Amino acid sequence: MSKVIAVLALQGAFAEHEKKLSELGIESFEIRRLPDIDRSFDGLIIPGGESTVQGKLLRDLGLFDPIKKRIEGGLPVFGTCAGMILLAQSIEGGEQSHLATMPVTVKRNAYGRQLGSFFTRDNFNGREIPMSFIRAPYISDIGSAEILAETGGKIVAARYENQLVTAFHPELCDDMYVYEYFLTMMGE
Ligand code: GLN
Repeated sequence: MSKVIAVLALQGAFAEHEKKLSELGIESFEIRRLPDIDRSFDGLIIPGGESTVQGKLLRDLGLFDPIKKRIEGGLPVFGTCAGMILLAQSIEGGEQSHLATMPVTVKRNAYGRQLGSFFTRDNFNGREIPMSFIRAPYISDIGSAEILAETGGKIVAARYENQLVTAFHPELCDDMYVYEYFLTMMGE
């Protein structure tokens, strides 16, 4: 049976993910309000944007607890950039964490002003891919998760069981490998 992916569409770069999924022939729909999560889906994407805004909207809309429970129950989830921050168990600097389902620590806006946004190519799970960073976080403590990518000595992608996170934006790059990796995870 073909897979359906829900894309959290409260704020940020959700439309770009939907475009990639449609290029891959994967059906997707947007989660904007609480009733949307009653639809059936096999995986969830949490996009880049602003983690504080998305975290507040998740709570205000009543989506926070149901989404957290689904992830803890094994729903495959892919968080990019702000999405990675929303999934992280802790955020450096004592900031309040959000869904906190992924046992890693992240540092927000971690590359400073000079390097707010940059583009590079590096290995993700052993394959060289393009990586676009926009006021990106990195993983400062990998905890019990598995490192999938490092660049410039910083961890920028990881997996823990049903959860995949990248500090960079595959939805803004001309490459499908990270999506293929997530689809493989969904099939496991
Ligand atoms: N700086 C943003 C945050 O802290 C993340 C940036 C992004 O998602 N491109 O939430």
